Amino acid sequence: MTCIFCKIAGGEIPSHLVYEDKDMVAFNDINPKAPIHVLIIPKRHIEKVSDLGPEDASLVGRLVVVARQIANERGISEKGFRLVFNCGPDAGQEVNHIHLHLLGGRAMNWPPG
Ligand code: AMP
Ligand code: ZN
Repeated sequence: MTCIFCKIAGGEIPSHLVYEDKDMVAFNDINPKAPIHVLIIPKRHIEKVSDLGPEDASLVGRLVVVARQIANERGISEKGFRLVFNCGPDAGQEVNHIHLHLLGGRAMNWPPG
């Protein structure tokens, strides 16, 4: 198993999890792009959004609900935050294990680069 996020989710790489349940974990991004930058991932290895099927709808929905919960805990629910899935090379996806970025704590630009 060579996937770094599978190793984090499986506890093979010790890391500080900010959230865990039976299906997913969340942890701070190692190279944060905003004052708050948390990654929420399923424990199951899914490479990218393009690989999702209808059976994954509730899992993906729950990633968003956990992101919302973390945003609330970090006190950025009112000021706002951004949720991002990068999918594939044009989006700059670097880690091929699906992850939801929660970014906040500063104003964001639109459109994104
Ligand atoms: P993406 O470009 O959407 O694939 O984003 C991958 C993200 O994972 C980047 O923001 C990286 O900083 C982050 N990252 C890579 N390795 C680790 C790690 N070991 N722990 C936490 N975050 C990581
Ligand atoms: Zn993986």
